[in-house]
Amino acid sequence: GTSPALTTPVPGALNNERARELAAQFPLLQRSVMDQPLVYLDSGATSQRPQSVLDAEFDFLRSSYSAVHRGAHTVAVEATDAFEQARETVANFVGAGPREIVWTSNATEAINLITYAFSNASAGSNGAGEASQQFRLGPGDQIVVTESEHHANLVPWQELCARTGAELRWIPVDDHGVLDLPAVDSVITEQTRVVSFTHVSNVTGAVNDVAALVDAARKVGAFTVLDACQSVPHLPVNFHELGVDFAAFSGHKMLGPTGIGALYGRAELLDVLPTFLTGGSMITSVTMERSEYLPAPTRFEAGTQRISQAVALAEAVRFLDAVGMENVATWESELGQRLAAGVAQLPGIRLIGPQPGVDRVGLASVVVEGVHAHDVGQLLDVAGVAVRVGHHCAQPLHRRLGVTATTRASTYLYNTTDDVDRLLNELAGVRRYFR
Ligand code: PLP
Repeated sequence: GTSPALTTPVPGALNNERARELAAQFPLLQRSVMDQPLVYLDSGATSQRPQSVLDAEFDFLRSSYSAVHRGAHTVAVEATDAFEQARETVANFVGAGPREIVWTSNATEAINLITYAFSNASAGSNGAGEASQQFRLGPGDQIVVTESEHHANLVPWQELCARTGAELRWIPVDDHGVLDLPAVDSVITEQTRVVSFTHVSNVTGAVNDVAALVDAARKVGAFTVLDACQSVPHLPVNFHELGVDFAAFSGHKMLGPTGIGALYGRAELLDVLPTFLTGGSMITSVTMERSEYLPAPTRFEAGTQRISQAVALAEAVRFLDAVGMENVATWESELGQRLAAGVAQLPGIRLIGPQPGVDRVGLASVVVEGVHAHDVGQLLDVAGVAVRVGHHCAQPLHRRLGVTATTRASTYLYNTTDDVDRLLNELAGVRRYFR
């Protein structure tokens, strides 16, 4: 690439000392809030960026910034190289080939891209040739999601059903908000064409059984779509090994910038999938009547791309690789268990999701009895503890659990057990305050 790896954290198991060393590389984490050192427990929404990622973007802008794929000049060639190398870096990180990674604005756009590709196939438009027949949907077809989806992996499927006449079905959750796997057999049927589900819940922190769901989908010949927004940043993820057909994730949750995310698609599917956005940069020839499109992934990247963001995301991936995703996952599992066990011991606080001891990432949502989540969030903020409150873009799950809002703490590789303990102390204080 044009910028060398600027940071090389030494691999090895994470612990408090190492997490503090990592945190020292994140400028924003050095600030205080309300005269208290900031405890940032909102990485599930958006993670912070290390200096190396900030530098990589700025260095690229200073040295090699230009439009890609078109210029005959040196800077454009450098920009194109950096852009395509970023794609390769990110593809390697998620166990995909570079031609299987399409840049999008975020995971939301990636999922919309798939749903519009399906409806364009159904309408016979946007490059829907013979080979795209497999993506046609209509009345009698079924799309399966789960009751715990982020709205980003629910609303686009509702809209696709409205456009095509397909039926939306969902796998229910139990009283803790965790997927009811035995129900899968009755929800997925011979009519199921797509099964789209989250890898890790952004509300419960539960890690879903991808293999079981992929198996169930394959048995009926349905496509699988994985919302990997909360897994790619926190667990080692390999899309080829998971065997999913499509997947979506966002850069801003994995130490990278906003404005960039990706769609993964199996090569043989991406090559025949109808397009979503059309226009410049994605064509081979255009007449006044019709157009021919480039192969994947470029056929899905209409218009001027997010170039510096791609370069910075690649640097974020180098940072994560240097720390080691196994190490990240192990450390966050420890933080997640400490969170879960800690809140379970607090009187008047109800833990959503897997109970202590059951597999989860470093994320926990709670209901403080008798106190609205927004008040909880405000009291924590006064103590310098940043969490997320509300429905976390998962209203159906909250409705199922009989609550309108929860308080969510989510960790990353820069958090320590002290951060978790500070949250637990403050939560205990919130209960006392309102009693
Ligand atoms: N899916 C899950 C599980 C998420 O947690 C999020 C982000 O909160 C999204 C999808 C949407 O991501 P973005 O807003 O970056 O498109």
